[in-house]
Amino acid sequence: MKEGRLIKGIGGFYYVYIDGLIYECKARGIFRKKKITPSIGDFVRIDVIDEEKKLGVLEEILDRKNEMIRPPVSNIDQAFIVFSFINPDINTMLLDRFTVLAESKGLDVVICLNKTDLVKDEILIKELNEIYKNSGYKIIMTSTKENNGLEEIKNLLHSKTSVFAGPSGVGKSSILKILTNRELEIGDVSQKTGRGKHTTRHAELIRINSDGWVVDTPGFSSLDLGEIDSEELSDFFPEFREYMTECRFVSCSHVNEPDCMVKEALEEGKIALSRYENYKTFLKEIKESRRY
Ligand code: GDP
Ligand code: ZN
Repeated sequence: MKEGRLIKGIGGFYYVYIDGLIYECKARGIFRKKKITPSIGDFVRIDVIDEEKKLGVLEEILDRKNEMIRPPVSNIDQAFIVFSFINPDINTMLLDRFTVLAESKGLDVVICLNKTDLVKDEILIKELNEIYKNSGYKIIMTSTKENNGLEEIKNLLHSKTSVFAGPSGVGKSSILKILTNRELEIGDVSQKTGRGKHTTRHAELIRINSDGWVVDTPGFSSLDLGEIDSEELSDFFPEFREYMTECRFVSCSHVNEPDCMVKEALEEGKIALSRYENYKTFLKEIKESRRY
């Protein structure tokens, strides 16, 4: 048996990467019985049937560290959350929704703000840079038109499996195309409905930097916080962590309780107001969705 990585699945065939070679595999019937569907990103064991033709049988799926539903990909390490400054305009509440979802999956988060070539407002760049740096995130300013910041992204792709996420039209496909040298669908912001764009394509893992992988299809299309508990939400705001252990109540929700060190840090300007406000909005949303 050989161990490898499932990188593509088409028409009942699974493509498994092992040391630079790709084996075309059928899955054993056992997966259907156990109701396990192999997904790209899976670390798997295969039985090689024909070494010359690179044919095999998928025998075993190793335990997953995490999984994403749309597109179905497992064992992701890192999420690049991509937004553009304008066209479409940046929306920090939506951005924070993406960071929370990525944090809840245990991913390293890198924020990528694209289309710097369209920005005349230097203050906006500086402000956003400060908010997210202070929140503990790596933040990269990019432009695919001026080839800005893409080397910086590339350097962060080593020995990890990365996914790009963000709203439609911000430039994810353009960035992926430059990084992977592959033709991916790039649409006009005006023409795109956001829906249906990737429905005919299957997600695939692409080898990058000789030891990294990227998912060629953007992730987290559903932004539902429904799986997150209200008590754990603050864990997904990394800049809250060092303060919240000092709150008077262990169960502090950092909204109305006395002696809340998160609120104190907010008042001292150590936590960004927009991040705190978004935290409160998400908390309310989660609590309301649990009421029924
Ligand atoms: P996606 O929906 O996030 O994958 O976005 P696309 O990559 O399809 O890009 C949407 C539109 O934005 C296309 O018209 C791109 O040419 C354009 N675009 C992408 N990156 C940049 C950039 O850095 N600057 C500018 N001005 N336009 C960009
Ligand atoms: Zn508190």
